[in-house]
Amino acid sequence: MRYPVADLVVLDTLGKLHARGHGLTGYCRSCRRYFAVPLPTLIAARGANSPVVRIRPLKCAGCGERETEIRITAPSKGGG
Ligand SMILES: [Zn+2]
Repeated sequence: MRYPVADLVVLDTLGKLHARGHGLTGYCRSCRRYFAVPLPTLIAARGANSPVVRIRPLKCAGCGERETEIRITAPSKGGG
């Protein structure tokens, strides 16, 4: 018995995330604020083949600390 794999897209790089319409949101544990992470900027800086899972923490846009988590956001609805 095989399972369909059509929906199991492996989003393991920044480039794939961007291509699928996903985005990134940063969460700062220091000031407890969410901030948008511009994916095109990140790709330009680190490369489209940068792995998502081992991404280095980003500097918080609010307080400048690096106690941040990166979260993948779902593609925006519509437009498809
Ligand atoms: Zn912060």
